[in-house]
Amino acid sequence: MSKIHNFSAGPCILAPTVFEEASKAILNYNNTGLSLIEMSHRSPEFVAVMEEARNLVKEILNIPKGYTVLFLQGGASLGFLEIAYNMMREHKRGAYITTGAWATKACKEANFMGEGVVIATSDDKNNNYIPKDYSIPNDVDYLHYTSNNTIFGTQFKTIPVTDKPLVCDMSSDIFSKPIDVSKFDIIYAGAQKNLGPAGTTLFIVKDSILGQSSVEIPTMLNLKTHADKDSMFNTPPVFAVYASMLTLRWIKSLGGLTEIEKRNNAKAELLYKEIDNNSLFEGTAAKEDRSYMNVTFTLKDDSKKDQFDKMWNEANISGIKGHRSVGGYRASIYNAMPIESVQVLIDVMKALENK
Ligand SMILES: *Cc1c(COP(=O)(O)O)cnc(C)c1O
Repeated sequence: MSKIHNFSAGPCILAPTVFEEASKAILNYNNTGLSLIEMSHRSPEFVAVMEEARNLVKEILNIPKGYTVLFLQGGASLGFLEIAYNMMREHKRGAYITTGAWATKACKEANFMGEGVVIATSDDKNNNYIPKDYSIPNDVDYLHYTSNNTIFGTQFKTIPVTDKPLVCDMSSDIFSKPIDVSKFDIIYAGAQKNLGPAGTTLFIVKDSILGQSSVEIPTMLNLKTHADKDSMFNTPPVFAVYASMLTLRWIKSLGGLTEIEKRNNAKAELLYKEIDNNSLFEGTAAKEDRSYMNVTFTLKDDSKKDQFDKMWNEANISGIKGHRSVGGYRASIYNAMPIESVQVLIDVMKALENK
């Protein structure tokens, strides 16, 4: 098989060792004679997988005491509703910074429980920047933001300062750099951007928020249900958890998030440098807010599109077509993307300019 340079935004590239070991586990898990996906989730084998996955999340993110790690289902999209259910208190209002399609969807779900209040938005410029001047009203129960905007290619460089409980959708940049978990009440992330296959959603929950909601929560949407049962209230997505655990092992083996961040910075800086220096291209996001995970750019002259598309296709590049709401191109350069693949894309961009 020829090497494909996979820049897909999600589901996306994972480390080669994850694919290899996960496929072995499908056929015969650890010489048990059983496939991972046909054995009981209550078996000692799978319970050990869940435990290792949970412990690796804690270790790699350096999570302080007082937090619970959960692997749930429903994607980050169900997470939007779970956040509202579990974080609503006396005001029944959540404050949202809407910096893109996902953040806007998250805010909308809050209206099923109470009210999602937009306190800052980048809607006025097609979400090409991160709003910096805003104030948070007193009569809200929490502040929610989306750390990396997968579609528009912007990213928060600092954690918003607030005395309100803080909630973050980190679907597309979790495990890409170290974070201070102690600042958050809930962090959640769909696995399929940087962690594993689709099918599980990681939640990191401050224990003190559990059971404190002012609204009645349906059993499956109550984070306490899952915390009380170690993510085993019902059948967990065993394969997605296993493959995520393999990714976490891989991150640890590379030296953890400090090393991962170094690699990610090198890749992103290389690609942005080309976008800025190449006369044919321009970035779509404000420079100071550029995402180091999803790099969005366009051709200045649309008449070159067919030529460029043909060239990157021939270079075995896949998945760089931009989201329809931005147009142009989006190169997703998640953890598992090697710098060599980024260089292939840059070489194609250079070749187009030199034609
Ligand atoms: C992809 C994505 C989502 C949606 O995740 P699902 O798991 O498909 O529900 C939410 N938020 C962000 C930031 C995303 O990138």
